[in-house]
Amino acid sequence: MTARLLDGKVMARLIRDEVATEATELLARGVKPGLAVVLLGEDPASQVYVRSKGNACQEAGMHSETIRLPAETTEAELLAVIDRLNADPQIHGMLVQLPLPRAINSDAVLRRIDPAKDVDGFHPVNVGKLVIGDPTAFKPATPYGVQEMLIRSGIDTKGMHAVIVGRSNIVGRPMANLLIQDGPGGNATVTVCHSRSRDLPSITRLADLLIVAIGRPNFVTADMVKPGAVVIDVGINRVDDAAAPKGYRIVGDVEFGPVSEVASAITPVPGGVGQMTIALLLKNTLQAARQASGGAAG
Ligand code: NDP
Repeated sequence: MTARLLDGKVMARLIRDEVATEATELLARGVKPGLAVVLLGEDPASQVYVRSKGNACQEAGMHSETIRLPAETTEAELLAVIDRLNADPQIHGMLVQLPLPRAINSDAVLRRIDPAKDVDGFHPVNVGKLVIGDPTAFKPATPYGVQEMLIRSGIDTKGMHAVIVGRSNIVGRPMANLLIQDGPGGNATVTVCHSRSRDLPSITRLADLLIVAIGRPNFVTADMVKPGAVVIDVGINRVDDAAAPKGYRIVGDVEFGPVSEVASAITPVPGGVGQMTIALLLKNTLQAARQASGGAAG
């Protein structure tokens, strides 16, 4: 079997166009959705992500602010920046690019963000709302992107056994919460695995839908996948490759070639889930602007 390719580029483009259209409609009502991204330090990967977020915002007709702070910024200084953005009516959504330098308590920072502007969905208020199925919750963009990919690809998760490998607060846990909700892209039976799960392959082989987010290159091999399963690879890993122009390649957590012979559908890396994340961040910013201006969620 050769799996159907779930193309994140195409789907992300669609979502970004939809967001741009809705942003124009909001603008006509006097509201310009605004996103602020705070970046500490010079981490090259973070710089790239932050630049992409700013560009995507502007392309969608949104207001965008990037606040670049030196790596030695203190926690108190960072909290003061967040307070300022919390009070700024032009800013509907904000996020602090992770990871933060070790001297800063990330939890304290994430909790300082006004939950109504927390478009990453990492504040405990939004985590709680997501768990209870409150539609005003901001869904963390990566698992939200996976859910949208499934819905837009016509993959009905209802009644599926979804196995998620990885239990981080950014991907695995919110993914599980989304998949057990009652509604489109939900109603799955969910198993969450992690590094202490016993006999992982015997669990992954039960999956109708296998979602992998562990950060281990090519970890999931074909023998770990049930024939016909839908496989979503969230992993983004750099592996050395002397033949590649940059000296490295980006691969996922799934061994793409052999697994695509077993699965019915699969996401590539790159070009899969990674493409969706920014699109859903924009959608969350739109949701924040709409909620702030008294409109409905969504
Ligand atoms: P974390 O490091 O926070 O979490 C990794 C999870 O995987 C943990 O729960 C860990 O278990 C589990 N794990 C690690 N090794 C194994 C193993 N051998 N068997 C079973 N479980 C294991 O990572 P993230 O969730 O932040 O990211 C995961 C991957 O997704 C990374 O490659 C990251 O780059 C990528 N990513 C991609 C995004 C995108 O936009 N596409 C966005 C965010 C992340 P335990 O809890 O027991 O330690």
